[in-house]
Amino acid sequence: MEAKQYVEKVLSKINRTNPGEKEFIDATKEVLISLIPVLEKHPEFIKASLLERIVEPERQIIFRVPWINDDGEIEVNRGFRVQFNNAIGPYKGGLRFHPSVNLSIIKFLGFEQIFKNSLTGLPIGGAKGGSDFNPKGKSDNEIMRFCQSFMAELYKYIGGNMDVPAGDIGVGGREIGYLYGYYKKLKSLSEQGVLTGKGLTFGGSLARTEATGYGLVYFAEEMLNDNDMSFKGKTVVISGSGNVAIYATQKAQELGAKVVALSDSNGYIYDENGIDINVIKEIKEVRRGRIKEYLDVVPNSKYQEGCNKIWEIKCDIALPCATQGEINKQSAEILVTNRVKVVAEGANMPSTLEAIEVFQNNNVLFGPAKAANAGGVACSALEMSQNSLRLSWTFEEVDKKLKEIMKNIYNNTKKSAEEYGQPGNILMGANIAGFMKVAKAMMSQGLV
Ligand code: NDP
Repeated sequence: MEAKQYVEKVLSKINRTNPGEKEFIDATKEVLISLIPVLEKHPEFIKASLLERIVEPERQIIFRVPWINDDGEIEVNRGFRVQFNNAIGPYKGGLRFHPSVNLSIIKFLGFEQIFKNSLTGLPIGGAKGGSDFNPKGKSDNEIMRFCQSFMAELYKYIGGNMDVPAGDIGVGGREIGYLYGYYKKLKSLSEQGVLTGKGLTFGGSLARTEATGYGLVYFAEEMLNDNDMSFKGKTVVISGSGNVAIYATQKAQELGAKVVALSDSNGYIYDENGIDINVIKEIKEVRRGRIKEYLDVVPNSKYQEGCNKIWEIKCDIALPCATQGEINKQSAEILVTNRVKVVAEGANMPSTLEAIEVFQNNNVLFGPAKAANAGGVACSALEMSQNSLRLSWTFEEVDKKLKEIMKNIYNNTKKSAEEYGQPGNILMGANIAGFMKVAKAMMSQGLV
């Protein structure tokens, strides 16, 4: 069967067997179409039904998470862990706690994670998990009780050589601490390598907190340098104000850029003098407040309700770091009209398929999530290495390795795009480079 025909057949099966799962269907479509040139060169992948196998999770676990709130009432949430592919190493991927979480979102994130983890060059497979639990407005005790109930089921399926979860939206250092504490209690053993993103006093890695945001900026800087530009003197807009957005802002500023806007799910702030990131860290990391509180400290800045309008601000570089689908076709067109030069994705799948098309048709340098935000999981794998060695590396050592990894990812994606006749198409290059390593491993390991 011809490559194009084969991909169409697999996509139609995905549509049929995953009804209503828009995020998952979009993610698989984006990847599979870009693999057509690979399949033309490697008909053995078609013969081995490799695509049908790679789009089917190896295991999906869905479970009840009952817990008691501070008023003594019983609440029930749904927990997920999708173990997608372990061809190149133990399952690895974050946990997301957000009311929007459903099976489609966890599957799309897990699917993307396979290729992202492969791109890091480290031996980690792909997985994702989470819950529709909303951590916003919950007390510390409620968060702890929820995390304990979540782990009371999840512990059966994870382990340092089996599946290693980490954080994502709504899951930061506090949640990982509670999850790890309860895992240890249930298993009666100290197994640091079972979770990453841990506190520094119990096996966490220096620079893990910063890694996704820093890595994103290192990746974007590679894209810029390759086109005779840099962050220096550029105007940058970043969405979100969580872990990824905060450290992307910090690193972009260190490299001489001016970050003028950040957002949360209520709205965005604009500060023409450049955002004071320490004020944001105090609001978001310490007080867990809303971004509009920035106005109380910097009264000359502006606040606008609604987060999508952030893309109407004129900028040279846009770094979407909030959530999936946040840049649609219309926002992409506005960015292009305002002459954006680089869009690099800190969040997972923040640009819709139509938005990506707009960027590609207008020569905007586009850094796709699975390459540009791989610094977080890469550093998580470095945390696993340190746990196995029972050693802690310095911040500088980890940061240096992170920078090298991001540079390698950029070079590999660029090379793959050139090899398959699409120079400059980093999205296609990332899909191909990530896929090839997993595909070869699956071919070698037989039908499992
Ligand atoms: P956080 O929970 O720390 O922050 C998320 C930020 O995005 C918050 O500012 C949040 O605002 C905002 N946000 C969430 N949902 C929406 C929405 N529907 N509309 C607008 N804004 C929203 O998460 P992270 O920073 O860790 O993750 C951000 C993105 O980066 C996600 O896509 C995640 O998958 C991806 N990522 C994260 C990695 C990591 O290491 N943390 C690694 C790789 C990717 P509010 O406070 O109002 O909810």
